[in-house]
Amino acid sequence: MTNRLLLIFALISSLAFAQAPEKAATGAPDVVVSARAQKLHDSALVVDTHADTPQRFLDEGFDIGSMDPKDAGHISLDKARRGNLEAEFFSIWVDPETNQGQFARHTFDLIDSVYLQAARHPDQMVMAYSPNDIDRAHKEHKLAALMGIEGGHSIENDIHLLRDYYRLGVRYMTLSWSNTNEWADSSGDIDDPKVQHHNGLTDFGKQVVLEMNRLGMMVDISHVADKTFWDAIATTKAPVIASHSSARALTDAPRNMTDEMLRAVAKNGGVVQVNFYNGFIDEDFRKAMMAQQKDAAAAVQKYTDQLKSEGKPVNYVDIDRIEREWMEKISRPPLKSLIDHIDHIAKVAGIDHVGLGSDFDGVSGATPQGIDSAADLPKITQALLDRGYSAEDIKKILGGNLMRVFREVEGVSHEMQAAAAK
Ligand SMILES: [Zn+2]
Repeated sequence: MTNRLLLIFALISSLAFAQAPEKAATGAPDVVVSARAQKLHDSALVVDTHADTPQRFLDEGFDIGSMDPKDAGHISLDKARRGNLEAEFFSIWVDPETNQGQFARHTFDLIDSVYLQAARHPDQMVMAYSPNDIDRAHKEHKLAALMGIEGGHSIENDIHLLRDYYRLGVRYMTLSWSNTNEWADSSGDIDDPKVQHHNGLTDFGKQVVLEMNRLGMMVDISHVADKTFWDAIATTKAPVIASHSSARALTDAPRNMTDEMLRAVAKNGGVVQVNFYNGFIDEDFRKAMMAQQKDAAAAVQKYTDQLKSEGKPVNYVDIDRIEREWMEKISRPPLKSLIDHIDHIAKVAGIDHVGLGSDFDGVSGATPQGIDSAADLPKITQALLDRGYSAEDIKKILGGNLMRVFREVEGVSHEMQAAAAK
């Protein structure tokens, strides 16, 4: 989830922003997917590590089987099929602001919403818990549904809950979301003096990382503060992932990864899954967005104040709509901006350490030109072919690298459990 990150950032930021640069509507021609690119794309195992669709399941009653042509969402079974998306890690994200005291309860509700969708569409979608499950779903032509928890606050400082989430099928956890929790600092509020920080991970935070290693739950360092990243790298016994993060050298968002971090992930054997969000992949877009951020935040505030004064609950569908309207005032960057990030990470970290972490359904109205849903994923394959990437390398980016890391994380887990059983 990204839009709310921006909102929080806006609320805590006291910087004065310059006027938004005027950006001409470029209207770059849409990418045409060649027969060769389509064939390559369809022969690859395509894995995306971050979609916020569970909030739609739970809050909007959205059905993933929807064929509604007016639905602006990024993910549906039909869109996944058209884009040959074969495995999706659905994000279990609990808003820390509105769920005080109920993090676990809401986490369980979101997990339940994913299972309900799989139960409703058993012919097209199946819950998956391992790389082998993904392979099996692939052979059965079903979407493999996996889950990742976005934000360590979901465990309520309780290692037992972490294990329960693993047992329910959660296979990665982002150590923090935009909020610093009681054991991990976040990049989202690291400059806010009102927030109690820990200089990275606390001792308990390090225990969480090691328990995730033991369980076989991937350690996700997206969203965390830089020091938390380095502490996680120093602590983990297994490769880490960044489930949805881009490169800071190209787009100066604190949530993106520096080249030094990219190299550290490579050394650790992990993978950085590139976030598609315009504010993280295009510097012009990011600056324009920062310039209008106070006004956008004020519009959301006005809406929430109005509801509070009427004693009504805040409706996220409306907040998303308001945020999207503001976002759509800025012209979309070309697909090239996204491909530049993939390319940069492939060059700095190496071709074995980059993949796709779209942030679909968390970044409504703010994906690059041509990428309107999962159905457009073949355009990425075309763009990578156009840049001279080999078929083998493209398959690594589309899912091969993530599958390798997932298997290695399982391997470390088996070793740790065997050692403990002796
Ligand atoms: Zn996120």
